[in-house]
Amino acid sequence: MASLPIVQFEEKILQTVEENPVVVIIGETGSGKSTQLSQMLHRRGYTKSGIIGVTQPRRVAAVSVARRVAQELGVRLGEEVGYAIRFEDRTSDLTRIKYLTDGVLLRESLSNPELNEYSVIILDEAHERSLNTDILLGLVKRLVKMRASNLKVLITSATLDGEKVSEFFSGCPVLNVPGKLYPVEILYSKERPKSYIESSLQTAIDIHIHEPEGDILIFMTGQDDIEKLVSKLEERVRNLEEGSCMDAITLPLHGSLPPEMQVRVFAPAPPNCRRFIVATNIAETSLTVDGVVYVIDSGYVKQRQYNPSTGMYSLDVVQISKVQANQRAGRAGRTRPGKCYRLYPSMVYEDDFIDVTVPEIQRSSLAGSVLYLKSLDLPDIDILKFDFLDPPSNDSLEDALKQLYLIDAIDDNGSITSVGRTMAELPLEPSLSRTLMEANENGCLSQALTVAAMLSAETTLLPGRSSRNIEKKRKHTPNEVHLPDGSGLGDHIQLLQIYEQWDQNDYDIGWCKDNGLQVRGMLFVKDVRKQLCQIMQKIAKGSLDVRADKRYIKGQQEYRNLRKALCVGYANKLGQRSIQHNGYRTIGFNYQLVQVHPSSVLTTDEYGMFPEYVVYHELISTSRPYMRTVCAVE
Ligand code: ADP
Repeated sequence: MASLPIVQFEEKILQTVEENPVVVIIGETGSGKSTQLSQMLHRRGYTKSGIIGVTQPRRVAAVSVARRVAQELGVRLGEEVGYAIRFEDRTSDLTRIKYLTDGVLLRESLSNPELNEYSVIILDEAHERSLNTDILLGLVKRLVKMRASNLKVLITSATLDGEKVSEFFSGCPVLNVPGKLYPVEILYSKERPKSYIESSLQTAIDIHIHEPEGDILIFMTGQDDIEKLVSKLEERVRNLEEGSCMDAITLPLHGSLPPEMQVRVFAPAPPNCRRFIVATNIAETSLTVDGVVYVIDSGYVKQRQYNPSTGMYSLDVVQISKVQANQRAGRAGRTRPGKCYRLYPSMVYEDDFIDVTVPEIQRSSLAGSVLYLKSLDLPDIDILKFDFLDPPSNDSLEDALKQLYLIDAIDDNGSITSVGRTMAELPLEPSLSRTLMEANENGCLSQALTVAAMLSAETTLLPGRSSRNIEKKRKHTPNEVHLPDGSGLGDHIQLLQIYEQWDQNDYDIGWCKDNGLQVRGMLFVKDVRKQLCQIMQKIAKGSLDVRADKRYIKGQQEYRNLRKALCVGYANKLGQRSIQHNGYRTIGFNYQLVQVHPSSVLTTDEYGMFPEYVVYHELISTSRPYMRTVCAVE
């Protein structure tokens, strides 16, 4: 890996780290920050006194980079080099270099506030400005003061405004690693296309026919678009094949792809073959795909945005920022001079695109983060004044406090309660943690654990969490087994019933296949359930309801206790039926009118009566406002 730009700066980097507790490193995507820095520090002996921890905002990146570093060092993954993401810990006593998601490091700091295990903490990909990285920046700043003599902190970024972070860390040094980037010609469209999928398709085919070899990287907004474009591309390429002088491979790339599919993008194209890589913004900076010469940029990204005054998330396809557009273009110049086809006019770039992406902390619900900060018991910290690189609005902090108050996590004075403290220890969102605790009290912990575990894999198991998908699959199943439908009580009950049926079928793999459920997903759920049970056992210190050990409890009292527990956990997310509007009103959020999301089992009124009261996980506004993941409580 000697050819990676960062390696040429090894001495300079190590010397600066030696002399300073915090160093910011700015380097072009692909310069080797994620894979090389940890190895340099390891070579210099920093792993003698502790572990080198490297945080990644994305699970995919943590796994992929750890795998790469293990390969480069010629060691087995999980031994000297390992990774830890939520519910999946591939580390051991031997581990010296540990890649982990920023969320996992935050969680570790709860049981070990000084993170003494670590001699070095690298906050990687800080430019992504994920919510958890932003919180870590604030925490690490405190930590450096406490552990100045034996902790080194590196903050790396592809684009981040180095001066700003340096100021945040009292003027720490900023090292710039000049990247080896070839010039990229930018080609703009005359106007915005009606469909960016069609336009991307046409542009890709034109490149394939007219341009010399080199891979094409196409940025799409999400998995659905990617799948559509991949299948259209495959069809067009098949039709071309006859007269074409080059073969082609299409490769999707997004966060929910199974690992064995993700690594395919790292294998170079065979000779005389062009790769079409269709990716989300994961390929902007998180994963470096080599061999790309052409980039097609739709100019859009899918972004979640939380509105604290309505409690509503919107999942919008929005315009990217200028920084993102330039990152995307840069992907074309790593191998040789490249071209970037922007499917929008230059005026749009100049006048409409914002300069930098809004950090996640300013567009998320902060209940989980505030609960975490409260549970740290930092004596001098008023949450409203926590040292953030970019502070969230007071509205969203107040909203978080209100949410936490409604589920008993904080008291009238805003202090964390013992319930809140326990909630923070569970690796789940606060409402779900609260549900588990209540379930432990009222005798349905076993069921609640199953629901929580199923929710962790829900989207992989039921794509789009669509009951219709199950219907479709069911029709093609020869040995027809009817998957449960929640008995008119909603999504949580359906998830529980599915797992219980699997349990009754002795966790049979064939049963999953017959029912159109991913085997890997179901095995993951089983493992998560076991882990959650262990965490609960530890937290409850002996007071765990023994029934949690039972393999399953039949649906006694129509799952009444479980629904009660959900009602306590989601007391801040309650909907009441409004017959005249054929929908629900949100209690607590200004009585907004909302519908049950079409992906819910509750949208089919097979049982003849929609429930009077429901709890939901989140409000999401797409074509109209919806409640998602819904359970009847009455
Ligand atoms: P940066 O963090 O500066 O963006 P990386 O360290 O992630 O750079 O990447 C450096 C090089 O290592 C790139 O050429 C990239 O393609 C390669 N690489 C990273 N992860 C893997 C992997 N899992 N398999 C193969 N190559 C990889």
